[in-house]
Amino acid sequence: MEADEIYGLLDGQAFHMCGDEFSVAIGAQGWEITLYQPPSAQPELRYPKRRGKPPAALDPAFVERASQLLKVRARRMHAEVAADWPRLSTKPDQLGRLEHPLGGNRLAAKWYCLHCDGEHTGQAMADNLWHCTACGASPIDIFPEPFWEESSQPA
Ligand SMILES: [Zn+2]
Repeated sequence: MEADEIYGLLDGQAFHMCGDEFSVAIGAQGWEITLYQPPSAQPELRYPKRRGKPPAALDPAFVERASQLLKVRARRMHAEVAADWPRLSTKPDQLGRLEHPLGGNRLAAKWYCLHCDGEHTGQAMADNLWHCTACGASPIDIFPEPFWEESSQPA
């Protein structure tokens, strides 16, 4: 997927917004708000340092409006991420089971995060595009059983 870029005006301030399937960002000179792929992610406001000029803090109301624009753009990112996934990766079956989008052909109703040990329902995984809702780990860290716990117990 190609990154795209659009330009606009918000409260008289010129901005650009760009995005690909991993993150979307809105900004202008001196500020940038980034929103990463997990639907549970929160917008992150940054003031990149420019030589010789201390950044001017933005009006919180402006930041809120810019973040709302970014969230609208993020919906397209989320749809694009899931577009190539099997149907059972985005919608659980009648038993609440899902299939991992990156393969394995395993159906499970509970999924575990290798990163933080979190336990998640299939629906929670579908809603957050297979990112851990607790720590934000990516889909490659999500497994149908916590094999790391079994291996640490005496045989
Ligand atoms: Zn986690």
